[in-house]
Amino acid sequence: MQQEAGRAGAVLKIDLNALRHNYRLLRSKLGAAQCGAAVKADAYGLGAIRVSQALLEEGCRHFFVAHLEEAIALRPHIIESAEIYVMHGSPVGYEAEFIEYRCVPILNSVQQILAWRKLAESQQTELPAIIQLDTGMSRMGLSGKEVQRWLANPDFIQGIKLQYLMSHLACAEDQQHPMNQQQLNTFKALRAQLPSCGASLANSSGIFLGPDFHFDLARPGAALYGVAPVAGLANPMQAVAHLQGCIIQTREIAAGTGVGYGLTWHSAAPSRIATVAVGYADGWLRSLSNRGVAHINGLVAPMVGNVSMDTITLDVSHIPLAQLYPGALVDLISDNNTVDQVAERASTIGYEILTSLGMRYQRHYVSKQDALNKNSEFVSSQGEAQ
Ligand SMILES: *Cc1c(COP(=O)(O)O)cnc(C)c1O
Repeated sequence: MQQEAGRAGAVLKIDLNALRHNYRLLRSKLGAAQCGAAVKADAYGLGAIRVSQALLEEGCRHFFVAHLEEAIALRPHIIESAEIYVMHGSPVGYEAEFIEYRCVPILNSVQQILAWRKLAESQQTELPAIIQLDTGMSRMGLSGKEVQRWLANPDFIQGIKLQYLMSHLACAEDQQHPMNQQQLNTFKALRAQLPSCGASLANSSGIFLGPDFHFDLARPGAALYGVAPVAGLANPMQAVAHLQGCIIQTREIAAGTGVGYGLTWHSAAPSRIATVAVGYADGWLRSLSNRGVAHINGLVAPMVGNVSMDTITLDVSHIPLAQLYPGALVDLISDNNTVDQVAERASTIGYEILTSLGMRYQRHYVSKQDALNKNSEFVSSQGEAQ
């Protein structure tokens, strides 16, 4: 049975069984190390609450978000014993909310460390934290110099219960990149001088760099959601996001007719054009203009003309008319056109395709129970947009 878009212009199917499979696959690579999950940006656009709950059932107990606001939204849906880490640390002045909402800051700067320490002092208690070290990406974390100052002053983290030292890899999806080993060496050297505690280095791609990169806790995001973790190799992850858009109308046009804003495409021959109810306001990036493709029952339908805010136009000249009725669904993200393939056509990465996915889609979460329902592999619970 095919899912229908109902009042919406498109159906976004989010396969939580595939997500669980991906989690188990990553965990199987990690040996003794814990497998956490990056659920920032609403779990890369797929719904942080639903995703986290599925991962909780798989045993995940370490969740990473970027903002305090994201942690506060997630906290009531996550069991008490699971940790929520906030990668940006505390916004200045909001430190106490981390205690109130039981989440743990990742301290990235001297300033954040001092503020967290001050709160611990005022509460006369030890407060948990992760401290991030910059090992070469120059984005977040203490610099080598700042670590030296820490070493010169052992009281620097007084009152802070250091759970993990953490760093982040800049080039992990390229397994041949010399930066991987360099960052690993730097991380190990810094760790050796600092108080002993857990360590966390690997994102999705880092897990595939081998056991040296695993330490105690990995933080995969993209691979959980089906994005290929290793450039140039077959993708071992299952697809989680499937997007289908609705045909609104079709028309026949004469040779030489322009299509869409700016008339950037003209038909070379008499053609049939289908207009589909997905546009850049839905995260169907405008850079896909004249470059994207859709599939209709496995047949390719090229996107022609510019992507509009609410619509795209397809050349469906060679598609049987019977498949082109209003309400018919065309595949936009599918096994024929994966998140990574869409990204390549849009000159971006799968991460951006997922995090751009819009809020106007009818979202269907496929869950475990549905897979047990023999009537249809597509029967699924309808998720509320989060
Ligand atoms: C986003 C992020 C992750 C997850 O990275 P993926 O490449 O999606 O696996 C892990 N750690 C940090 C610090 C991040 O910012």
